[in-house]
Amino acid sequence: MRLLTAPLAAIAITASVYLAEHAFPYWTMIAHWKEPLLFLAGLMAGIRWPDWDFFIPGLSHRSGLTHSILLPIVVYYMASPALAAGLSLGIALHLSSDIQPKAWTGGALIKFPVLGSIGKNLSPLWLFINIVGCIGIMAASLDIEPHFAQLVMLMVTSAGTVWYFSREEKKRFIPLATLAASGFLVHGIRSGLLTLTVVTQFFV
Ligand SMILES: [Zn+2]
Repeated sequence: MRLLTAPLAAIAITASVYLAEHAFPYWTMIAHWKEPLLFLAGLMAGIRWPDWDFFIPGLSHRSGLTHSILLPIVVYYMASPALAAGLSLGIALHLSSDIQPKAWTGGALIKFPVLGSIGKNLSPLWLFINIVGCIGIMAASLDIEPHFAQLVMLMVTSAGTVWYFSREEKKRFIPLATLAASGFLVHGIRSGLLTLTVVTQFFV
């Protein structure tokens, strides 16, 4: 049920934030809290969003379109980087759970319309690359937020991650290790420690 209710609640929060901003433009408090609230709404929706492939006609479960950075990228450029950052965190948490199925068969595999399943070798790689992408979008969004919003967003990130791993995902080791590895990779690339030449040399 939360598959439906959490994204709907997130849409309600997002709509309220934009309505309040429109109705009370002189309330600086709303401007102050707009980004953190959009981030929270994004997180709530993002955790459930990938499995909306159940509801979208034409998609098979574990669709590569919803189990990816596609939605955050569109939201980042078309709507709000803070909302995109929340979605990214939620999707990264979801994909970090999906990366440890009982077996890489059937329902665990990533699928695309027309193409079908991408197989047991590419599915984990697809999930990992998209977790890295999600964390990259989060970092890029946090860069451009004002200090207060950054602070609240980091607090929501910690609280959301603790909530997720205490309530939603009890097999924590592989998801947390994957998220940590992705975080280091994004940090390495952003700080120039890992240049793309080093990365390509590593793989060639
Ligand atoms: Zn999923």
